[in-house]
Amino acid sequence: MRIKRLALNIAMIVVVAGLGSCSQQSPPQSSPSVPSTTAPTADDSSCGDATASLRPPDALPAVGNMPAGSFMATIAARGRLVVGTSQDTLLFSSRNPFTGSIEGFDIDVARLIAQAVFGDPNKIQIVVIPNSDRIKDVQNGTVDLVAETMTINCQRRSAIDFSTVYYQAGQKILVPTTSSATSLDDLGGKTVCAVAGSTSINAIVSSPAHPKLLTEPTWGECLVAFQQNRADAISTDDTILAGLAAQDPYAKVVGPRFTDEPYGLGISQAHPEFTRFVNGVLAQARADGTLGQIADRWLSRYSTPAPLPEARYRD
Ligand code: GLU
Repeated sequence: MRIKRLALNIAMIVVVAGLGSCSQQSPPQSSPSVPSTTAPTADDSSCGDATASLRPPDALPAVGNMPAGSFMATIAARGRLVVGTSQDTLLFSSRNPFTGSIEGFDIDVARLIAQAVFGDPNKIQIVVIPNSDRIKDVQNGTVDLVAETMTINCQRRSAIDFSTVYYQAGQKILVPTTSSATSLDDLGGKTVCAVAGSTSINAIVSSPAHPKLLTEPTWGECLVAFQQNRADAISTDDTILAGLAAQDPYAKVVGPRFTDEPYGLGISQAHPEFTRFVNGVLAQARADGTLGQIADRWLSRYSTPAPLPEARYRD
């Protein structure tokens, strides 16, 4: 098993090392793993319903006719939508080693926005950013939006805006196929990996079993740690774990979901008209079935996609 794990691990390192050439910005350097006990909480309700997003206009502007002075007009003039995302989250945004393109659920959602601005879903520029930089890079304008398995919560919404929810995930654990554990509470004394800056950390550090936390910059690096036996388990959204388990025949995803992780596109608070526009695009995609088709395309191979949540709005 260790030899097979090592082979898988080498394959993983090759994939990770071969990435980055197509992104417009260098992929992040791996930083040393550091223990962390601070994490945004997923269930903070201090702002009310964090998933209620700005109501879209009654009608969306037509392609080629973005309102003067709007952020959509800025994007249109630039000729591409700049999207911050991951490059190694299989099923959501990962490099296809055969085509070199980054693809997945998050990328297809971002393409819907490009289609609405340009009439062309391919007019996107992907910028690979670590999860821990998502908020910073939205705030400083490095990207127009983040599409990166990003959970909406009050703490984050105090810093950036979010679109309406385009998928509802929930946290689980990934363990070796030989393990009898079904929850974090069965992992006392074990090392559990999660990505720095993710909501996943919160449940790990608050488990009464006190598992040891290992943080890595990306979920791909958590998988490498698991395969090298530096981590006994990984805990994050079931969606992400499904993509990790698909790459490792010695891993399984177990147990019920124990958090709610509503995914939204992260957008700067400086462009409320863009958030409203994005919500209009998502409303159309919900209504005509496109969003459901995207969820099926990426998730149905490994699980039954969760029902798409209804949009909730605030004015
Ligand atoms: N959805 C969670 C979050 O946004 C965990 C996964 C991730 O970080 O991408 O923190």
